[in-house]
Amino acid sequence: MNRITEPDPRCTLAALMPSFTRLAIPDLLLEEVIEHAREDAPIECCGLLAGHISESVGVVTTRFAIANELRSRSDYLTEPRGMFLAFRAMRESGLELLAIYHSHPTSEPVPSLRDIDGNTYGESVVHLIVGLGGEKADARGWWLTETGSREAVVVAAGLV
Ligand SMILES: [Zn+2]
Repeated sequence: MNRITEPDPRCTLAALMPSFTRLAIPDLLLEEVIEHAREDAPIECCGLLAGHISESVGVVTTRFAIANELRSRSDYLTEPRGMFLAFRAMRESGLELLAIYHSHPTSEPVPSLRDIDGNTYGESVVHLIVGLGGEKADARGWWLTETGSREAVVVAAGLV
């Protein structure tokens, strides 16, 4: 199952391990991610967060909304054209892919088995999940391993 359509071409093991330990997201961008999740509900939304790595912190500067090709309430597949354009824009701007985000419209922001099985990025990026199942929207980040997940440190940042 290859749910993410354009994996990082650097397919060595080292490239699939984390190159930063914390993800810093400006408040405004996190708001945008949550808004995207609300707009696309009841289907799952997805997108990419890019930026640069500074002293072990992945500092997000740019968001790319990507269409969910599956238009599913419980799964997502990043649409290839959107991925192509996002990766091109990242290359042109010298940005690194730091996180992939998607939503769980009716449940907690915890990785599903599909999220873990479908991950083709190893631990090179954080998977940020927005959960709309509770009273308030909640966003949590995860490193997905081959067999499970561990929570990533995600910090809100002011304007970066
Ligand atoms: Zn999920």
